[in-house]
Parts: sequence; structure tokens; C-alpha cells
Amino acid sequence: MEQLAINGGKPVRESKLYYGHQYIDEADVKAVSEVLVSDYLTCGPKITELEQKLCEITGAKYAVAISNGTAALHVACLAAGIGEGDEVITTPITFAASANCALYCGAKPVFADINPHTYNIDPAKVKEKITDATKAVIAVDFTGQAVELDELIAICHEKGILLIEDGAHSIGTKYKGKGVGSVADMTTFSFHPVKTVTGGEGGAILTNNKELYEKLLLYRAHGITRNEGLMEHESDGPWYYEMIGLGYNYRITDIQAALVISQLGKLKMFSDRRKEIVNKYNEAFRKIPELFVQEEIQESDTTRHLYILRIRPEMLNIDRAGFFAAMNAENICCNVHYIPVYYMPYYEKLGYKRGICPKAEKLYSEMMSLPLYPSMTDEDVDDVIRAVTKIVDAYRK
Ligand SMILES: *Cc1c(COP(=O)(O)O)cnc(C)c1O
Repeated sequence: MEQLAINGGKPVRESKLYYGHQYIDEADVKAVSEVLVSDYLTCGPKITELEQKLCEITGAKYAVAISNGTAALHVACLAAGIGEGDEVITTPITFAASANCALYCGAKPVFADINPHTYNIDPAKVKEKITDATKAVIAVDFTGQAVELDELIAICHEKGILLIEDGAHSIGTKYKGKGVGSVADMTTFSFHPVKTVTGGEGGAILTNNKELYEKLLLYRAHGITRNEGLMEHESDGPWYYEMIGLGYNYRITDIQAALVISQLGKLKMFSDRRKEIVNKYNEAFRKIPELFVQEEIQESDTTRHLYILRIRPEMLNIDRAGFFAAMNAENICCNVHYIPVYYMPYYEKLGYKRGICPKAEKLYSEMMSLPLYPSMTDEDVDDVIRAVTKIVDAYRK
């Protein structure tokens, strides 16, 4: 049954407001059209241009553009040498791909709990989970806020393990003034349409490490190399190449790369507008004691991908599901990011039990994601704030 808006059934707004939407302009359309009539639809110059641009923006030495953010995580794990019997520590509050990439390699994802204020993985919990089998930590910049990189790098490097940063949410974010992508051993991005910058599909891995960079290139394209330095036999001639590892076809097309390049030209605008909207939300919701506002670490200058509304159910006569339905009745579409990964039946069948990360589970039961994207108008933002305020007022204990 469709729920009616509270207080007489008149919703805060007439038309539905999406929770996320890509921003495509004429320049994007032109950039893609130009590639369509060029010589290269894939393996062409737009890939190199995108990789250079990503290095410029983030300050990383090397970038590898790839088919999507999941492929980016997979090849990062392969480059890190993760395999059968290894363990990879990650957060449960993420998209399944951050843990699935370990499973792809035959390794075991180990979930460490979050910091209940920032919602990012807690470095102290990571430390507790490290064993002799741990090969890497995959830390997710949840909502776009950088994880505590210095602490995590110190913990990882002391144990001789790699820090892979899942930056699917955090392109444009800076940590201590440095671009996300230039700090961890490897950082992955996603260019899915819901993310800050899109290529339709697409992704990238950034690193400062030449050895990892060369492995990433190999695994992106079938394990094939034309680099004589890496070959095992003498070259037979100019056509010669060797397959020296088992890689995949994870190439991105020039069509997608052109769109991402064009979108990156708007990154500052995207970032500024997202920050503006987040500031408006924060300012309004900090005044409402029934809500908890996500805390920011001092070191992160965040380009926010998601805005989390977290209710304090003990102060309200409504739970998250009720709040979510009430928002929908006000014509504000919300979402929930994320269901803890180990709640998924596939993970349950692997033996993961509820209760392993209580702070993440509590967060999950209290949160929803509000609309946040650059093309939202100030009126849209005000509508969201009015809807939240209206519901809290109606259900306050
Ligand atoms: C979107 C996302 C991914 C996967 O990216 P795709 O491009 O959709 O494959 C991985 N991790 C996180 C945290 C994400 O949000």
C-alpha cells in the first residue's frame, strides 16, 4: 500500500526527486561524438589521455584506466599477489565488490568494524584482524571521506602488507592536501553514472609504484606484454608479444574514456556543488537532536558522493524503514548504502555470521542516503530538509 504523506497527505513536493543523477552537458556529448567518428573506438589515444589526466588531478605517478571499478579492485588484488589461502581485510559498509575482489582471487575477506562517527573502517580494528595470512587491506573512502590513510599505511607497512584504497566514492577528495590516489599503495576509482564522474561504465587504478603499475597493465589485458624487458624468449619480430600471466579483458573504450575526460573538466564544479549541498544538510540537521551527523576527520577535504541521514531511533516513534517510507511519501527518493556485505546470502553460505561488526550493523539499521548530485537546485535541497524536518516533528518522542 502506498503510504500517504503525513499531516493531511500533502507531500513536501509535487514531483519525485531522484536520489542520484548523472550530469551530462553539450561538451560531454561532443567529446563522445568525436571519438565515434575517429579511428579508435578502443585501445586509442583517449585512454592515455585519461590516464595522464588522472595523474595530474590526483598527483599519482601512474594510472591505469579500466572497464569498471570492480575490475579495478580485481586487478589491484592480482597485482598485490593475492591468492588462495590469503586474507584481505575490508569494511562491511561498502558495495559487495570491495570484498568480492578477494573472493575472485581465492582469498578470504575478513571484515573489520567501522568508526561509529566517521563510518569508515577503524584502523584499530584493522590491526586486531591482521594475521600471518593477511595480504592486503582494502579501505573504502565511504561517502567520499578519506580513510585515515597515515594510520592505515603505518599499520600495513609495519606488517609488510599493501593498502588498497577503494576510492569509488572519493575522486576529488584530498587527504592532508594530497589527492586521493597519490597516497595509498593503490587506489581504485569507479566511473559508474551514480559516482561523481562518469563514463557510463569505467574505472581506474592509481599507484606510485612502477612494479605494481606494470602488473596492473598486464592483468588488464590478458597478461600480454610487448615489453621486451618482461619477455621470457627472444622476440621473433615486430609482431611478437608474449602472454606471461593469466589476465583478463578489462579494457575501457575510447568512447568511455572521452566521456570521463570531459567530465573531469567539471570536477571542480561537481565538487564545489556537492560540498555546498552537504553544508546545507549538515547545518540543518545539526540543529535536530534526533539526527546524528557524520563526522569528518580533520585531514579529509571531502568531495562527498553520498549524504547519510542517520536517525536516533531511541528518540523517535519511527524506525529507519518507516522514515524511508515517509520520505518516499514526501516524494523524496532515498536509498540505503550499504547493507553489510556479510548479510548477503552468498556470504552467509560461506560461513559469515551476523554480529561480527556491531557498529556497522547499528549504522545500517539507522541510516539512509539522501539525494545528492550537482544538478539539484537550492529548492530541491530545501525540499529534502523540509521533508526530514516534517517527519522528525511528526514522530518525535
Ligand atoms: C561503485 C562501487 C564499486 C564498483 O564500481 P563499478 O564501477 O560499479 O564496478 C566498488 N566499490 C564501491 C565502494 C563502490 O561504490
